[in-house]
Amino acid sequence: MSEQENLSARKKILIVDDSEMNRSLLSDILCSEYDILEAENGMEASAILHSHEQDIAVMLLDIVMPVMDGFEMLDVMNKNGWIKSIPVIMISAEAASAYVDRAYDLGVHDYISRPFDERTVRRRVINTIMLSAKQKELVNMVTEQIVEKERDNRIMVEILSNIVEFRNGESGLHVLHIRTLTDLILRRLLEKTDKYNISRKDIPLICNASALHDIGKISIPSKILNKPGRLTSEEYEIMKTHSAEGARILRDIPMREQEPLIEMGYRICRWHHERYDGKGYPDGLKGEEIPIEAQVVALADVYDALTSKRVYKDAYSHEKAVDMILNGECGTFNPILMECLKDISSTLKTEFASLVVEKNKEMEMMDTVEQIMERGELDVSERTLKLLEHERMKSRFYADMSREIQFEYTVTPEMMILSEWGAGYLGMPETIINPRGEDFGKKIFGGDDFEILLTRTKNAPKESPVIEGTYLLNIKGQERWSKVITRSIWEGETPEYTGAIGKIVDINDDLEKINRLEKMASRDSLTGILNHRAAKARINTILARGKQDKDYIFCMFDLDKFKMANDNYGHLFGDEVLKYVAETLVECTRSSDIVARMGGDEFLIFMEYTRDMEPQVKRIFQNLCGQYKDFPIRISMGVGCAKDCGGDYDRLFHMADAAMYVVKQNGRNGYRIYSEEMEAALNETSEGK
Ligand code: GH3
Ligand code: MG
Repeated sequence: MSEQENLSARKKILIVDDSEMNRSLLSDILCSEYDILEAENGMEASAILHSHEQDIAVMLLDIVMPVMDGFEMLDVMNKNGWIKSIPVIMISAEAASAYVDRAYDLGVHDYISRPFDERTVRRRVINTIMLSAKQKELVNMVTEQIVEKERDNRIMVEILSNIVEFRNGESGLHVLHIRTLTDLILRRLLEKTDKYNISRKDIPLICNASALHDIGKISIPSKILNKPGRLTSEEYEIMKTHSAEGARILRDIPMREQEPLIEMGYRICRWHHERYDGKGYPDGLKGEEIPIEAQVVALADVYDALTSKRVYKDAYSHEKAVDMILNGECGTFNPILMECLKDISSTLKTEFASLVVEKNKEMEMMDTVEQIMERGELDVSERTLKLLEHERMKSRFYADMSREIQFEYTVTPEMMILSEWGAGYLGMPETIINPRGEDFGKKIFGGDDFEILLTRTKNAPKESPVIEGTYLLNIKGQERWSKVITRSIWEGETPEYTGAIGKIVDINDDLEKINRLEKMASRDSLTGILNHRAAKARINTILARGKQDKDYIFCMFDLDKFKMANDNYGHLFGDEVLKYVAETLVECTRSSDIVARMGGDEFLIFMEYTRDMEPQVKRIFQNLCGQYKDFPIRISMGVGCAKDCGGDYDRLFHMADAAMYVVKQNGRNGYRIYSEEMEAALNETSEGK
């Protein structure tokens, strides 16, 4: 295999261009050697990069596109750091140097202007891929070295500071405590202010250097260092030399003056006993003359000294120590640092003992990683792991939050992996189960349902691998309608069915909700009987059946002078009257009859009649007339016969309406049954007008 072939084997190229023609042209040139992914604009391309960042060997990018153009896309790639791992070749008809410059500024590897010839495109794509692979290899090598160096550094610093502590009779934890405290105080400080010339990236370095703060004690005679009682003033003077001495040790390391760790360590060693009021040593620096890192370590040192047991004293409680510092009993400190100490106080108290140490290491690790990432130097495999972990964390989070019954079914070995929540919901004691076991396939699905589901999944067409089915499941003894959605999976060269992923969605509640909503939509909100729309639909169904053996009447009535109820007793009283009428209506009809409020003070009845129509209408009419409190209820009612309407609801409605009109015209308080003559008379009246 030539180098070229080797490098390009199974690599993916992402073509981003809004013109299908252009994409197809480029695809034709490159598809024999590469897999091609296409996107119509930056937005689509971003979506692809989110899931395929690792796979894409090169991206060909157009400039002018709708939704998100090429330059915006480059911005996004810069923000996401994609530009570092995915080489971009800009292909555009815009040859103006301003465009070309801007593209290179935004990090593209190459710029091809249209029209291009086939060979140019192929050659440049191959070159770009080779170049970027070499670059990645180099980066990996450098990264490994950096990581190694960083680790060695830390170990050396720890060994060194442990020697000092050991000599000093300290627990060996002092250095770790100082580190942790320094870290927490600095983080809080950076949240509060940006007035100091440090950033988050400097924190690991300062913490590392903090471990060296007492290194000068190596030169203090051990009889002074470990003296149980008070030091004499002479001894104290000797003791005080440890800060300048530590600084000297660091400064005198040959050839290392410029190392950031040494410089930082120097400042911390020398000035961690200076005090904000100028009363410290060795230089009597005052206020902000003292480098902030030394101020922080000084505060951490005092806190740790107070809360630790020493040969000459017991340990103070956390609260007492913070109080003593805040009250100025242990020297003066920068007010903003005291605030920081106060702010982190609760964190310190609960986590200091052991957790913080671990956390600190983790945070430091993160910072180191962040730093390396920023320099574009993170080991690729490590980065992949990180991305994978990120994905895993994301899907675990979604699975937990969604409270869904998710599952994965595999053929060999045959098993079913349920999401944690799903297993609990289904009442399965384990998340990994035998799908054909009694408990699952037989008990939850019942009958052959599960076999059918598996067969359907196995036979799903590859073009549309997602299938859905509704099953009545037995969940913890309850029958629940559930939707099962699966996505079949095939793997290998000659794709073979290997299983499926899927989820089970309980739709019982949805069904109930739909029923409830339907019910609400068909009811009149004031009286609770059907509304006109729903009644009409039901009547239409009956009319459509066109049964000859049954006759129906359609009665429509309107209250007489109902406005008076509102006018004399108020609108609420009017409402009561309407509700009362509806109740009476329900009482004087059968449950198989359809009664509804059409709106306002108009109602309808659709009912079967068996023998004589007239007595039945009369009975209803009489039942409806009556009295509600002081208001006399009178109605005008028109009636139409369903058999005369030819199955047409509107016609039937018109008949009853016309008859009712006639009643209103003739002094109200009565009922009429529609007839042809009535229609003729009505037409005459309207023509006479
Ligand atoms: P008529 O004998 O001609 O039917 O006289 P009427 O006073 O009953 O007049 P009409 O049927 O034209 O008017 C019905 C009145 O019903 C008009 C409106 O103010 C009142 N109304 C409509 N809907 C409601 C309601 O939901 N509640 C109450 N309280 N009044 C309503
Ligand atoms: Mg009325």
